[in-house]
Amino acid sequence: MTPDPSASDSAAIDSSVSNSLISSLDAQVIPASLRIRQRLEEAGVPFLANDNISDHLEEGDLDQLESEVADKVRDLLRSLVIDIDNDHNTQETAERVARMYLHEVFKGRYHVQPKIASFPNIKNLDEVYTVGPISIRSACSHHLVPILGNCWIGIKPGEHVIGLSKFARVADWVFSRPHIQEEAVIILADEIERLCKPKGLAILVKAQHYCMKWRGVKELQTSMINSVVRGDFRKDPSLKAEFFELVKQQQDLLST
Ligand SMILES: [Zn+2]
Repeated sequence: MTPDPSASDSAAIDSSVSNSLISSLDAQVIPASLRIRQRLEEAGVPFLANDNISDHLEEGDLDQLESEVADKVRDLLRSLVIDIDNDHNTQETAERVARMYLHEVFKGRYHVQPKIASFPNIKNLDEVYTVGPISIRSACSHHLVPILGNCWIGIKPGEHVIGLSKFARVADWVFSRPHIQEEAVIILADEIERLCKPKGLAILVKAQHYCMKWRGVKELQTSMINSVVRGDFRKDPSLKAEFFELVKQQQDLLST
């Protein structure tokens, strides 16, 4: 018996309709975080707390993540036995926290690096300069409470130069992730090297950790200072000393 062509057409239409139904159902049933995670695992890229995953996000992902995170924060508040249905102060807290994590305090994980143009170093500038203090705002990976402080960047120019304000933009993007301070400085150094390939790069960060101030040992004044020196700053001790002297002068300026 010859198959009825209209029947096979309608079967094909049926199957394409059902396939698109399945994929739209998938999008609704499979949490956004799981889909993104599968993509990252397939690409073999890390997605640690201080990694940026923006290259692996697709259109609409961030909106779906925002509502998924809000649901989880709502559950967290309920688990903390907070009556979010009747407490006027916490009714919108879940949505606020989700927005804050994805678009503000952890934006450096989910958003692409701000556009930073670099220019050829036509005049072959090679004098050392420092930029700072640049405010840094981050959160510790261990407790997700703030790390607040300042950073100073020293440059011995190489092939390219970037505008002074751009250092603040890239620092803000790098620090807006859950971090430990030691790794944050290295990630920032890598990004600046990539952007302007300096002959020498030095970074100093001084920050207060709220996991020490607000909880735990409750030390209000303690800060952590760390630095990274690369290229000529590493090879030449007098250049390194010049960097720390310039930073000291910038700090002194603040107290005058
Ligand atoms: Zn901590």
